[in-house]
Amino acid sequence: MVIKTANFVKSSGKWQDCPEPTIPEYAFIGRSNVGKSSLINAMMNHKDLAKTSQTPGKTQLINHFLVNENWYLTDLPGYGYAKVSKSIRKDFEKLITNYILNRRNLVNLFVLVDVRHTPQKIDLEFIQWCGESGVPFSIVFTKADKLKPNVVIQNVEHYKAELHKTWEDLPELYVTSAEKKEGCEEILNFIEKTNDF
Ligand code: GDP
Repeated sequence: MVIKTANFVKSSGKWQDCPEPTIPEYAFIGRSNVGKSSLINAMMNHKDLAKTSQTPGKTQLINHFLVNENWYLTDLPGYGYAKVSKSIRKDFEKLITNYILNRRNLVNLFVLVDVRHTPQKIDLEFIQWCGESGVPFSIVFTKADKLKPNVVIQNVEHYKAELHKTWEDLPELYVTSAEKKEGCEEILNFIEKTNDF
């Protein structure tokens, strides 16, 4: 997919405040610092559409971007930042889960995980919740350029083995590098083919 336009629409603190759900929507989520903003910017061919996080965990807003005038890209707040209080964490879990469960036009959720790490409890729990809740999602490995290609493959296999402990069928997996712009086209192709633009 060629990105002709990508514009910020609004930030919402509640799912009810999000733009009217009149066009297909694709959301991105992951732990703070996973590389979400960088990947969004790489996909959109934009330097600073999504703000890369100086202060992880700070942005607890849902950010909508209108792409090519016909779909929404949604940047969800990063989860799992240890240094926020329990009550803030709860609010913010509520914000995310309410959005995911209620957003009628959400076609797919991209769950980002850092390919360098072994499967983390918080990500596995979130993925588990998505599966159990029937949320359509894919897993996106980030920062692939930081490892040798064979280690990337090993880590992805390890992740798959971990998921297979619970699930027979796995979601789509993407391996990406915002730095090298790898995997962006694959994600955009998926978005293109899951819609009738
Ligand atoms: P966010 O908190 O998930 O939005 O993460 P950011 O996009 O702000 O990235 C966190 C840090 O990881 C920043 O220092 C980025 O420069 C770095 N980073 C993000 N993506 C990549 C990548 O694909 N390759 C490399 N080498 N670094 C990355």
